[in-house]
Amino acid sequence: MLRRIDQFRQWHSLDEKRYCLVCGNLITGRQIQVTDGTHGSGPLRLNCPTEQCNSIPMDWVLPTDEILTRVERLAEEERKASALKPAAVTIGNGQTVHTDKSHAHFVSRLRRLAFHLKRHAKLSPLIPAGLEPPGGSAG
Ligand SMILES: [Zn+2]
Repeated sequence: MLRRIDQFRQWHSLDEKRYCLVCGNLITGRQIQVTDGTHGSGPLRLNCPTEQCNSIPMDWVLPTDEILTRVERLAEEERKASALKPAAVTIGNGQTVHTDKSHAHFVSRLRRLAFHLKRHAKLSPLIPAGLEPPGGSAG
């Protein structure tokens, strides 16, 4: 049955494996989903068992050694990539400190700016007092 539908590759048994180039998964002949196009009368289609993968038989290649090595390398790179971007660092006593310092930097810049404005305000009364940074008395 697979052999008839899959015009691009030869299938010898349902246990054969194929590597899906679209989702990067290894799939076997048994896992491949066969769907009939339109109300059972249309041409049969083969679908990758992976959800949201719309690959066609043409996207499936024989899992040669080269392919398998590539898959392993990809998986390793993904692991490295996820290990390289920790959102926060946990220090000794269990506290979590965010490594992102841009916020603190932004605040210090704001303070400096406010300082300048205050100094300016003394010299030039044209700047309204409303430019003062919001304090604790508001509300
Ligand atoms: Zn797929």
